[in-house]
Amino acid sequence: MIFDIVTIFPGLVRNALGEGIVKRAIDRGLLAVRVHDLRDFTDDRHRVVDDVPYGGGPGMVLKVEPLFRAVESLVGDRTPGVAVVLMSPQGRPFSQREAGRLASLDRIVLLCGRYEGVDDRVRTHLVSDELSIGDYVLTGGELPALVVVDVVARLVPGVVGDEQSVEAESFARGLLDYPHYTRPAEFRDLKVPGVLLSGHHAEIRRWRKRQAIDRTRATRPDLLGQAVLDEEEREILDELTRTDSDN
Ligand code: SAH
Repeated sequence: MIFDIVTIFPGLVRNALGEGIVKRAIDRGLLAVRVHDLRDFTDDRHRVVDDVPYGGGPGMVLKVEPLFRAVESLVGDRTPGVAVVLMSPQGRPFSQREAGRLASLDRIVLLCGRYEGVDDRVRTHLVSDELSIGDYVLTGGELPALVVVDVVARLVPGVVGDEQSVEAESFARGLLDYPHYTRPAEFRDLKVPGVLLSGHHAEIRRWRKRQAIDRTRATRPDLLGQAVLDEEEREILDELTRTDSDN
């Protein structure tokens, strides 16, 4: 899996990749993240990447030519295993499911906007996808691109040590994760739930499922409709719903 990040702040992106699980995965050759300076794709002496907006108004807009040149020189004629993604608050919401789709590709080019945004011909004629990381506006696409790299990288086999941990996680099946604890069993007067110390695997499993369902119901009921539940989880959900309507 190869990521290409095109940005006017390559240093910012490289710094973020210098530590942690993604760095280790890069060192182990499980993935490559190439960072490209958009200015390297200009052809004027001052390496200009932005200009004032047609029609007036505030701010600057990233120019169309350097972005086209960057993508064409990186991936040429696009093949099926390649996505060219524009980071944008107006894009499709990025999600775990979207990450799963991207994780099946060979190569992902991520274009980072800045200022007021990017000449719209990039969106209409250059990219295959436009993704937003949430309903808020950042100063640039670098953090969003790093979010995409981070989330997709975790799905590449071998990147996260324990595959099971990826499967149990929030959003994997439409439920939030269950709570985690580690030693000590008692901190001040805060105790770890007794069931986790009991050694009863079946009870622990059921408790975790119940917690996951409870949490999802409390903070993200919108997820439950789409969740893929097993028989035990369905039972727990029914039980919780019954208790609610009894009260
Ligand atoms: N004027 C634009 C915002 C520009 S913000 C608008 O209102 O839509 C500058 C750049 O930051 C964008 O081009 C995009 O690349 C990035 N960006 C900002 N918020 C983002 C978000 N929520 N998701 C993905 N990219 C974002």
